[in-house]
Amino acid sequence: MSGIVTYSPAYTLVPTYECFNRCDYCNFRVDPGKDPWMTRSVAENILKELQHQGVCEILILSGEVHPQSSRRQVWFELIYNLCELALSLGFLPHTNAGPLSFTEMQQLKTVNVSMGLMLEQLTPALLNTVHRFAPSKIPEMRLQQLAWAGELQIPFTTGLLLGIGETPNDWWETLEAIAQLHLHYGHIQEVILQPYSPGNQQTWNAPRFEPQQLPEVIVKAKEILPAEITIQIPPNLVPDPEWLLACIAAGARDLGGVGPKDEVNPDYPHLTREDLLQILKSAGWQLTPRLPIYPQYDKWLPQHLQTAVQSWRNMSLAAF
Ligand code: SF4
Repeated sequence: MSGIVTYSPAYTLVPTYECFNRCDYCNFRVDPGKDPWMTRSVAENILKELQHQGVCEILILSGEVHPQSSRRQVWFELIYNLCELALSLGFLPHTNAGPLSFTEMQQLKTVNVSMGLMLEQLTPALLNTVHRFAPSKIPEMRLQQLAWAGELQIPFTTGLLLGIGETPNDWWETLEAIAQLHLHYGHIQEVILQPYSPGNQQTWNAPRFEPQQLPEVIVKAKEILPAEITIQIPPNLVPDPEWLLACIAAGARDLGGVGPKDEVNPDYPHLTREDLLQILKSAGWQLTPRLPIYPQYDKWLPQHLQTAVQSWRNMSLAAF
């Protein structure tokens, strides 16, 4: 074997698809007030079905309620409660719910083993194009989120969305910013390089980011990012096995959460774990499950979360 490639056996819970932003490329959102929120009992039924099925991570992925909305507090409580529920049923939660206040982030730290927010791209040019109706995509605000996560010692996943109207120089600048934040706080566990992949719901008409370009971006990203940050590629968005293997040869070492549905890219189903395993094996790579927190960060967690993580670490990998 020439090496190990990891993935997280995951299931995504969506508290709500409603989002007050309107990114042109979005295939997820529903207008505010038009989507019934997930109830605790629905979530509980789903999670109970998933117990002992090899799923470790529960990704809580939510559309955003405006920070000034009178519904913000109820929305936040739902997310918090779903994390607590997932923990109580033996799973490890990882939340990505858009920009949060410092206090919200601080509270979610107590019920999440890691959290995430895509930086996407730092160039302000996109605020005039694909992000013109997306106030949450103001680059400074997202950088601030990464800095707060660092201050709070939250193991964090971020990443770039490639092919939404930026230039290659913009990629390097965004990666540099992530590298600088990590050098200061040491909290970035993974950087996702996500190729823009058009779907059926979006309003934007633009060609996909060709996966053939990815290996070159990965090589440069590895030069820019500190060595301890893992580069993650979503395998369903690089559907050609040849190019997936080229991404790994270029330095990507993680395939992210692999579950029944990619909620952000619903038109791109995941390959099964067995298919991925075979593709990787054909080139001598070993596919191994991982937890949503990398071991070097365990000590950052409050004691009850450390205990939950430890019981997963004690489990044989074959039990996943
Ligand atoms: S991409 Fe995210 S922030 Fe933008 S509209 Fe969709 S759900 Fe909202």
